[in-house]
Amino acid sequence: MEEQLHEIEAAARQALSQAGSLDELNAVRVRYLGKRGELTHVLRGMGALPAEQRPAVGHLANQVRESIEAHLSARTAELKEAQKHARLAAETIDVTLPGTAFYPGRLHPLTRVRREIEDIFLGLGFSIAEGPEVELDYYNFEALNLPKDHPARDMQDSFFIGPEVLLRTHTSPVQVRTMERTAPSVPVKIIAPGKVYRRDDDATHSPMFHQVEGLAIDRRITFGDLKGVLNVFAEEMFGAGTRTRFRPSFFPFTEPSAEVDISCVMCGGKGCRVCSHTGWLEILGSGMVHPRVLEMSGYDAGEVTGFAFGMGIERIAMLKYGIDDLRLLFDNDLRFLAQF
Ligand SMILES: [Zn+2]
Repeated sequence: MEEQLHEIEAAARQALSQAGSLDELNAVRVRYLGKRGELTHVLRGMGALPAEQRPAVGHLANQVRESIEAHLSARTAELKEAQKHARLAAETIDVTLPGTAFYPGRLHPLTRVRREIEDIFLGLGFSIAEGPEVELDYYNFEALNLPKDHPARDMQDSFFIGPEVLLRTHTSPVQVRTMERTAPSVPVKIIAPGKVYRRDDDATHSPMFHQVEGLAIDRRITFGDLKGVLNVFAEEMFGAGTRTRFRPSFFPFTEPSAEVDISCVMCGGKGCRVCSHTGWLEILGSGMVHPRVLEMSGYDAGEVTGFAFGMGIERIAMLKYGIDDLRLLFDNDLRFLAQF
């Protein structure tokens, strides 16, 4: 019987050593120490032994049980430790891996420039006016001194929706609507930013683009006021020291009219490729509001005068940021947009 106990001990220890998981350890425990386990089975047979042998065998049996239990708990601790290491290794974060890039949202360059223009004129006491993009021929042309047979209409090839309805070709109709609403009160000082539409599509033209219109009407407004306002705008937008130049021009809705140039933002006026070696860049059209336009919208041209100007936001943005192709502004290519 003693021999049997030693065999059980050796077998149990070997089984414990070979067990590779906590489940396997438990199976070994049940097999040797459980209620129907081998050691229990042997102990039950002790009753058949002569009384004088029982204490020695009982003592040995306890030693065997303790030996198996000690080995069991050592192996349990070992396997738990191994399991913990395996889990930690699996959960390790490799801090050298490239991270997930996070792109903050940013404003489109046209939106930035539009807001910048708005801020400059708000600072000069102008307010912002809006009007419909689908416009009546009357507001887009006729009330601006462009009757149906006027040749200057050809300069603005238009998207007509019906005989009298079109997509506005400029933001000037907002001038007319504002004057109609306000006349005969003065002063009027508005800018009207918005989308306009013309049948053009190439590297320098888009069928949809953005303009900002400006209008000021009051008693004794002069061309000097127009120059003063646009000089401030040029310096605020393109930097201190930016000069302006007014060239005589023609627009049906202003008289006299002027194209306004600024000293080249690239070369400072010395002459370069961007300014075609002239030192000047054309940025907007302007003039004194034509008396007939004032009269048509309800003002007495003998009492009040006014000036108006209009500029393309794309043009301003391209000059400000050195963008050489208009279409980049509408491609929505993130590699381009992320630069602003
Ligand atoms: Zn230049």
